[in-house]
Amino acid sequence: MSANPTYAVYTLGCKLNYAESSAISRRLSEQGYNKVSFKEKADIYIINTCSVTNEADKECRMVVRNALNTSPGAFIAVIGCYAQLKPEEIAKIEGVDIVLGASEKFNIANYLQKLDKNSFAEIHSCEIDQPLEFHAAHSSGERTRSFLKVQDGCDYVCSYCTIPLARGRSRSNNIEKVIENIYEIANKGVREIVLTGVNLGDFGINEPGSDKHHETFFQLVQGIEKLDVPVRFRISSIEPNLLTDDIIRWVSTSQKFVPHFHIPLQSGSDTILKKMRRRYLRDVYSERVQLIKSLMLHCCIGADVIAGFHGETEEDFMETYTFLNELDISYLHAFTYSERSNTLAAESKEAVPLEIRRKRTRMLRILSEKKLRNFYLQNMGQERDVLFEGHVNDGWQYGHTDNYVRVRISSDEILKNSMYKLRLIAINEEGTVDGEVVSSSVDSPTFNFQLSTSN
Ligand code: SF4
Repeated sequence: MSANPTYAVYTLGCKLNYAESSAISRRLSEQGYNKVSFKEKADIYIINTCSVTNEADKECRMVVRNALNTSPGAFIAVIGCYAQLKPEEIAKIEGVDIVLGASEKFNIANYLQKLDKNSFAEIHSCEIDQPLEFHAAHSSGERTRSFLKVQDGCDYVCSYCTIPLARGRSRSNNIEKVIENIYEIANKGVREIVLTGVNLGDFGINEPGSDKHHETFFQLVQGIEKLDVPVRFRISSIEPNLLTDDIIRWVSTSQKFVPHFHIPLQSGSDTILKKMRRRYLRDVYSERVQLIKSLMLHCCIGADVIAGFHGETEEDFMETYTFLNELDISYLHAFTYSERSNTLAAESKEAVPLEIRRKRTRMLRILSEKKLRNFYLQNMGQERDVLFEGHVNDGWQYGHTDNYVRVRISSDEILKNSMYKLRLIAINEEGTVDGEVVSSSVDSPTFNFQLSTSN
């Protein structure tokens, strides 16, 4: 093994996991480790796991096997949510050397001093009900868009969810440090930052163990508005009960935040929302959507929805379907409910047969396609700012508008990371939207933004 061992990272799951994998990689590279792709031979393979997928165990096993097929003697570290939730299960997977949970994953370098294969896996996971430190992270794979983690963990107890068990209590960065992170990202040339967290609207709990909100997500939004950086900001998923009028009104006049919200609904039936232990009823959700649309006619609104939750009757499901059908939203992320051990819902005796769960999910996905097409049609003729992402196919270059319409134009120039104003002219055969150039709206920035110049 060389003096500078090589390592590769494989990430399963959400944007937060991607942001954290990037942060862990940056730290390892700073310490002299050389990063290679997961398909290449490496001395160390790191697998950052997810607890949301039902197949976590199977997926993890498969990724470990692939890594060891490529480099039979490599050191295997399994980290992240599933590693925190089920460390013993992972430790039993043949070839795994170390299992690191919610806190320890950020100290991975300390565990890589000695890379001899272990005859059994060492487990280092924390007491998840104890206050945990906040670790800042952002993704840096592509230059165009970065996911910036500003909050972690969750204090809610939705009856189907294991995330609080895998990530612990809510905690977050403070505004000053988030702004430092934003300048660091902007100086790399990134043009869009997505504020990310487990329960983003709960931003503001800084002190581990404290129940007091010292800062709020709205204050963060206001703080970001003042920054002098050529970056647009997107808010990732935010709970309907935490998406306040103040935030919506602010975004509607913002020069920095784009008109796009992703608001988890999960069910359109109050009976099911109560069984899920969500903190709102359907009226709150429709009020949020109405306020957004009254202020921002072309705002994109996405929703998460779970099909076939325990006790969901045909009437409950149709209530959800009709509610979503009538609501002015733009797309859905539909998930089939599946039981998670150690959750309240898993103990329920009202299981919906799997084929019915799947049928309902299919219906919701078809509804989502209809909604998206409708939303795109509402945007025809609009002039919107498009950030090109570098995806090129058959001479077409792709990007997203501020309000999240996926757009393409034909161009010989390399447009990656440039912002153009486009007129949206037609939905094409692949379901994206063809645009025509109105202007190249924002010039290429110089990257030397300083904290002192803006605050
Ligand atoms: S809000 Fe509910 S679903 Fe979301 S992470 Fe917290 S417990 Fe899970």
